[in-house]
Amino acid sequence: MLSNFKVVLVETSHPGNIGAVARAMKNMEMFELRLVAPKYFPHADATARASGADDVLRRAEVYTGLSEAIADCQLVLGASARDRTISWPTVVAREMAERWGGAAAADQNVALVFGRENSGLTNQELDLCHYLLRIPCNPDYSSLNLAAAVQVACYELYVASGRQHRSGVGDQGEEPLASAEQMEGFYEHLLQTMADIGFLHPERSRSIMRRLRRLFNRAQLDTKELDILRGILRFSQNHNAK
Ligand code: SAH
Repeated sequence: MLSNFKVVLVETSHPGNIGAVARAMKNMEMFELRLVAPKYFPHADATARASGADDVLRRAEVYTGLSEAIADCQLVLGASARDRTISWPTVVAREMAERWGGAAAADQNVALVFGRENSGLTNQELDLCHYLLRIPCNPDYSSLNLAAAVQVACYELYVASGRQHRSGVGDQGEEPLASAEQMEGFYEHLLQTMADIGFLHPERSRSIMRRLRRLFNRAQLDTKELDILRGILRFSQNHNAK
């Protein structure tokens, strides 16, 4: 997935930025880079800044004009930091990724077009685009570095295509999660213990037990954590009995 997306850079003047773009793309598993009349390419600065993404640079295709670079694309999005006096239909990066980053749009070639470092894209170039792509940011300082802009767009696509890994919480995941039956055993044990130590009366416990269930369900206990909690309950009961 995402192989249908092409990153197109128009007349980039700093070759280091081209390398940084290649790196940003490869980080997000995107590999198709197209360069429209780059000032210097290939260049040692590009290779240096690509740091290991030289395969993306090697595969990069160079074009003389934007229309040639996007000729095989069904959808063209022009990234711009500036509000234009004539209004183009605009999408923000996340919306772009949600609309076109999934499997549903995978059969169309999509060009993400980025402009020059000093002057962005011309209105004539934006005329070739279906949408203007914006990265929301500080309205008083809205121009990102070229590679940073590519990074944000590709990151949003990566997330929307469902490839980001779930956040981890320490070593959770090594133990299987507790089953419903194990949780019921725990709740009975908890209720019994709370009654034994005089914390509550079992007949008047419904609302507190519901809240406690909600709390433990939120935590999604694994079997090891459940063992620890039951150990504490056993200990409290024994201690109380003495
Ligand atoms: N000074 C230029 C901006 C150059 S930044 C100008 O005034 O237009 C280089 C490129 O990065 C821009 O052409 C655009 O494609 C992209 N870019 C930078 N910031 C962006 C933003 N906030 N939203 C969308 N694209 C952005």
